[in-house]
Amino acid sequence: MTNAPGFPEQVNVTPIPAFNDNYIWCLHNNSHAIVVDPGDADPVLAFCRQQGLTLSAVLITHHHRDHTGGIASLSAAVKDLPVIGPRGGHISGITKSVAQGDMVKLPAIDCEFSVLEVPGHTLDHIAYVGHNALFCGDTLFAAGCGRLFEGTAEQMHRSLNKIKRLSPATAIYCTHEYTQANVKFALVVDTDNPKLQAYSEWVNTTRNNNCPTLPADLATQLAINPFLRCDNEAVAKSVSQFANTELSDEIAVFSQLRKWKDNF
Ligand SMILES: [Zn+2]
Repeated sequence: MTNAPGFPEQVNVTPIPAFNDNYIWCLHNNSHAIVVDPGDADPVLAFCRQQGLTLSAVLITHHHRDHTGGIASLSAAVKDLPVIGPRGGHISGITKSVAQGDMVKLPAIDCEFSVLEVPGHTLDHIAYVGHNALFCGDTLFAAGCGRLFEGTAEQMHRSLNKIKRLSPATAIYCTHEYTQANVKFALVVDTDNPKLQAYSEWVNTTRNNNCPTLPADLATQLAINPFLRCDNEAVAKSVSQFANTELSDEIAVFSQLRKWKDNF
């Protein structure tokens, strides 16, 4: 359990493991729980039962099945469960659609988040920001970022720039434990970065102890995550060498970096 500094005193944020490497983030006090991206209902219901919590709302970041697969069972188990997520009507079970700038109030745990639209991984992708925390689904990962399944490199780059402008104290709650593999790639791109080298050691120790590497703090990510560092000279140089051409701008660097990682 983590009690992030920006949350009300009684609120903890717990990762509920699901599938191979998903975390369903659960925000809870000692009576109520909110979950983000429940790809599977069973571990959520089990956690609520064990802790004696009433599930009070579900937040969804995008339409992929490993983020939405539990909606139907949770809605069947909990009467009138609010399910908040992207607009468009394409995700079955959403009861309230939200868009950029909307506020999401969660009175059961006394929290409030605003919505960021972050297209790139998918076109419908949104993130929830508040209490010095960001729930960003598959947009930003520790030392990496989501694949471009639907959006363009330019869209994803713009979305990551929105995240870069948040307070550096923001804790990043992403959905997958991909950190160790991401760091391996990051070290190839940004080999001489001492902060990345130190981060790599911490990640290895943490994973060897079977602990999550998340949430990730934005300040660290700004220093070590190559996908947030396309404006960095060493990263740009390394990516230009991979692409075997001079890359004219940050978007071109980002685009080639994503391609490099896709084939790594
Ligand atoms: Zn996804």
